[in-house]
Amino acid sequence: MNIAIDGPAGAGKSTIAKLVSKKLGYIYVDTGAMFRAIGLFCAEENTGSDDHELIAETAGRADVNIGYVDGAQRVFLNGADVTDRLRDEKVGNMASVVAQIPAVRSTLLDLQRKIAAENDVVMDGRDIGTCVLPDAQLKVYLTASSAVRAKRRYDELVAKGETPDIDVIEKDIIDRDERDMNREIAPLKQADDAILVDSSYMTIEEVTDRIMELAAKAQGK
Ligand code: C5P
Repeated sequence: MNIAIDGPAGAGKSTIAKLVSKKLGYIYVDTGAMFRAIGLFCAEENTGSDDHELIAETAGRADVNIGYVDGAQRVFLNGADVTDRLRDEKVGNMASVVAQIPAVRSTLLDLQRKIAAENDVVMDGRDIGTCVLPDAQLKVYLTASSAVRAKRRYDELVAKGETPDIDVIEKDIIDRDERDMNREIAPLKQADDAILVDSSYMTIEEVTDRIMELAAKAQGK
């Protein structure tokens, strides 16, 4: 059984996918973390974000793998566990730059399909329903308004003791969506057979329940 959850940055995909996978006993595959690992590598190598040839060459030296420790996904970059270094805003922005590069996408596509072929998965990303797992039994497109997404991110950062600027966060989110929706390969878009869930005015529990209901239907229960 493969469940695909796609949608824009900050829509709550990973929170929901983690909860749903736990309830179902499936593996949660966070594909954004794979792109983030390559983004982190390019940031450390100081590639900048404009020279795509340099980024492609640099990304070619980044070997990304994933493993599971106590059911939680860990991401390995050239053998080192970098999971705890991936959530930074800068890394997210760099991830969406490297995600435009064909060679990066095709390497990660192979890894993503292999994991889904070998396991029951809830996989989240941008192109899972349209490209990675076109035959997934359930496809969800999870979205929310950019203002709501920015507010959620703002609250997360404030809870961590930071003092972010909500307008900057919203602008970053809108820029990232633009890049993700308008790139040539595997852009972010709702698959024809995906079910739209707008979480703007839903609680985490409501969204989880809705997806569990859809999963039960997809399993024929
Ligand atoms: O979901 P997350 O914010 O971790 O993703 C980081 C970036 O990785 C996204 O903005 C997107 O550009 C890229 N990505 C992608 N395809 C996926 C998952 C993520 O292009 N399946």
